[in-house]
Amino acid sequence: MIDKYAFDRALEEIHTSLRGLAARGNRGFDCSARSLEKLEQWGQGSGDSQPTLEAVRADLGDCQRCQLAGGRKNIVFGAGNPLAKLVFVGEGPGFEEDQQGLPFVGPAGQLLTRIIEAINLDRNQVYICNVIKCRPAGNRNPQPDEINACFPFLERQLAAIQPDFIVALGTFAAQTLLGTSTPISRLRGRFHEYNGIKVLPTYHPAYLLRNPDMKRAVWEDMKMLMKEYRYED
Ligand code: URA
Repeated sequence: MIDKYAFDRALEEIHTSLRGLAARGNRGFDCSARSLEKLEQWGQGSGDSQPTLEAVRADLGDCQRCQLAGGRKNIVFGAGNPLAKLVFVGEGPGFEEDQQGLPFVGPAGQLLTRIIEAINLDRNQVYICNVIKCRPAGNRNPQPDEINACFPFLERQLAAIQPDFIVALGTFAAQTLLGTSTPISRLRGRFHEYNGIKVLPTYHPAYLLRNPDMKRAVWEDMKMLMKEYRYED
């Protein structure tokens, strides 16, 4: 027999928890068949082939693998849904990101948020990270040894998340993921592939802030993404 008071108490606790989550910005739960299937796999695979984001973060530790460690305030590991179907990969943290330890929270990040919302998603549904996890002084370009030191961690993050799509934001993300030196202007506008994941290179939001005319090209890329994204639902 159901104890009505226990039931009411449980309901009240659930209500309180949900209100707490909503206050912290959670706008819903991803209960798609795809996510439930992935949740079922958790803890079943061999540790190496299917790492968890927590394990990757733990291995990164207080990383001293390249010279960027000396100048950083925070490692910017990544943020968002660990079961995301779509991952955005940028270049590396800027000033605001270094201060907060979160990706894309400065001016380019605000534009990225608007791009994500324009495709009817929000930041909690996707995962956002970078090729390098520490800010280069003065926002200079990442150097090859810095990328080489950091890229294995991005690869393991992607292996943990297993997204269907990656949007590679700008030259460094696109060229690093695709192992090419082809310019972003020639890579964008079509899907490529990284370890079975569809990769769509597009212009970096920071570039769009300097070249607003290029927003049209990014919108074309996002429309292409939306079509495929819905198709795979
Ligand atoms: N630019 C990037 O490439 N990544 C960030 O996290 C912020 C700005």
